[in-house]
Amino acid sequence: MKKVKYLILGAGPSGLTFANMLLDKGIEDFAVIEKENRAGGLCRTEYVNGQPVDFGGGHILDTRSRKVDEFMFRFLPESEWNHFTRDSQIYFRGQLMGSPFEAHIWQLPTEEQVKYLKAIAVAGCNLGTEKPEKFIDWITWKLGTKIAEDYMLPYNRKMFSKDLNSLGTYWLAKLPDVSFEDTLMSCLEHRFYGKQPCHSNFLYPKNEGFGDTFVRMSERLGERYYGNITVNSVDFDTKTVNNEFRFEKLIVAMPWTEFKSINGMPEEIQDGINKLKHSEVQIDYYSKSLPFETTAQWIYYPSEEFSYHRIMAMENFALGSKGYWTETNGERVALKKEESDFSYLNHYAYPLNTLEKPAIMDKLLSWGRENDVYGLGRWGEWSHFNADVCMERAMDLADEMTK
Ligand SMILES: Cc1cc2nc3c(=O)[nH]c(=O)nc-3n(C[C@H](O)[C@H](O)[C@H](O)COP(=O)(O)OP(=O)(O)OC[C@H]3O[C@@H](n4cnc5c(N)ncnc54)[C@H](O)[C@@H]3O)c2cc1C
Repeated sequence: MKKVKYLILGAGPSGLTFANMLLDKGIEDFAVIEKENRAGGLCRTEYVNGQPVDFGGGHILDTRSRKVDEFMFRFLPESEWNHFTRDSQIYFRGQLMGSPFEAHIWQLPTEEQVKYLKAIAVAGCNLGTEKPEKFIDWITWKLGTKIAEDYMLPYNRKMFSKDLNSLGTYWLAKLPDVSFEDTLMSCLEHRFYGKQPCHSNFLYPKNEGFGDTFVRMSERLGERYYGNITVNSVDFDTKTVNNEFRFEKLIVAMPWTEFKSINGMPEEIQDGINKLKHSEVQIDYYSKSLPFETTAQWIYYPSEEFSYHRIMAMENFALGSKGYWTETNGERVALKKEESDFSYLNHYAYPLNTLEKPAIMDKLLSWGRENDVYGLGRWGEWSHFNADVCMERAMDLADEMTK
């Protein structure tokens, strides 16, 4: 039995940041367990025919936190990143238009603009009705029936799931917030109007994939890093994992649903874990160039005609690389029409923000803290956090636990 003070499960950005923070503080009594051969989690880059491919889908660095930037730059200096201004588009009715949709309807024919504007004018949020609890109802409430039917519902069904009914609205700070006035002004002035959406400026490495930085973070951990080990079981009474590692404090930075056997956790909390939902994303890499010219770094595809919901035009941000890749919800991979050079299915891609999730996670995380167990990051907290947010949370948790 290997005994450590801190046992960290999962070597994605959350687990790796937490472990490196411990080293920074001079703490060496820890271990990180990771099931894959290569570190980085959803931010992992693998090389296909010499080209970097981000296995978890499109990954770019955009953080509001200086301490996260500085941490990343220790593993890949700032001079080794290219800076980009976001250029994302939507493939709509056979043409490319700007994104977000509601800020770019001015690019559509005038009579279409009028139909969209009429529908937004009578959307619930503009009539002052109460904000709905379900995401599916919120879409129409916020953007009106026409954007809902033509773009938001088909796109979100493709991306998250056919059944949007189970999703809540407590996570929508992630989505662009374009008001009716902004849309109207953009139609009148024929230009984007209002607040820029997230990732308006971002960084991508000049000469490698996004995930290589995380590999270097794992290398710094030396013998404390255990790759190629799948965590199957946890016993909270004996404080052991896989009957191989004994911990004083456990940091869960992998999906809770991956524990095949759990001992010493109240049944009600285990039942909650069984109710957590997630979606899968398959990435398909194509080494040829896109069949059309575009400056966009990524393009959204709401139409059912395409199995995938997004294309990452890799050549436009991973400079010097070749081709593009598509992202497809696991439920839709059978609809793929064209053979790719390489495919990879991420079983865990999006933690689903179901109506019941906040209560489940509240109970789980509070019980954990009373028992020296800490959920961290996208899966440990089952939240739609981006990598930079996960890293910041890992830094804060390391500070808090080592005070
Ligand atoms: C399509 C897509 C695009 C994204 N784009 C961006 C972006 O552009 N910018 C950005 O900042 N973020 C982006 N994200 C989010 C980003 O990927 C996550 O926020 C980040 O990777 C979460 O880090 P984490 O360490 O919490 O989880 P993960 O990265 O998922 O890491 C979890 C780790 O746990 C390991 N693990 C799982 N099960 C076990 C087990 N049984 N035993 C041992 N180990 C296990 C996994 O192999 C993995 O290494 C995107 C996500 C997706 C799905």
